[in-house]
Amino acid sequence: MAINIEKYKEIIESLETKGVQLVAVSKIKPVCDIQKLYDLGQRDFGENYVQELVDKQLQLPGNVKWHFIGHLQSNKVKYITPFVHLIQGVDSLKLLKEINKQGNKINRIISCLLQIHIAQEETKFGMDENELAEAVKELTENASAYTHVKVEGLMGMASFSNDDEKVREELRYLKILYDKYKDFSSSAVKITTLSMGMSGDYEMAIEEGSNMVRIGSLLFGARLK
Ligand SMILES: *Cc1c(COP(=O)(O)O)cnc(C)c1O
Repeated sequence: MAINIEKYKEIIESLETKGVQLVAVSKIKPVCDIQKLYDLGQRDFGENYVQELVDKQLQLPGNVKWHFIGHLQSNKVKYITPFVHLIQGVDSLKLLKEINKQGNKINRIISCLLQIHIAQEETKFGMDENELAEAVKELTENASAYTHVKVEGLMGMASFSNDDEKVREELRYLKILYDKYKDFSSSAVKITTLSMGMSGDYEMAIEEGSNMVRIGSLLFGARLK
């Protein structure tokens, strides 16, 4: 399936009026498709795989804001820290420590979102409410050990389900956690971004308070892989 320019224009227009940021999820899609949205003004793109992201970054303009939205393995952090705009899927303190270490090496503060597990489906990564509380506590009490990361918000993926009420409940739960930490601010934590909503549920996610959506297949067509 091909890239849908009309849909892009429709989505961007509706998001702008609501103050919601669009991350165009371009995983598995070719560089020429990314370039088409770039030419229309889109700058934020999301990728799930480290090697693919590194390859694409080399082929596209330097002012693209690359979001890493996949599951990140600690041993691959170093490949993306030199250029990544936002690492959205930080699901453990161990990973955050490695990001901080790699940021320190190149003297760059790396922006991150903590991924929260909200779906009842088991396959999705993320912290639970207690792990989130512990992470915020650690980042604050031990702030001098986290000089090269900045936690800017929360990210979550609701279940892939036709049960709208279930999806809405999961989104609502993430919003409650976001509100709990929203006004919290310390040197390594300042929660201002709530990244939730994908092709299937972004409208509902915005209704529930999202300010960043990650949309792939609606823009670029279905992924065959
Ligand atoms: C693939 C992916 C998306 C986009 O999914 P679509 O349903 O194609 O919009 C959003 N967020 C994450 C974390 C993803 O892996």
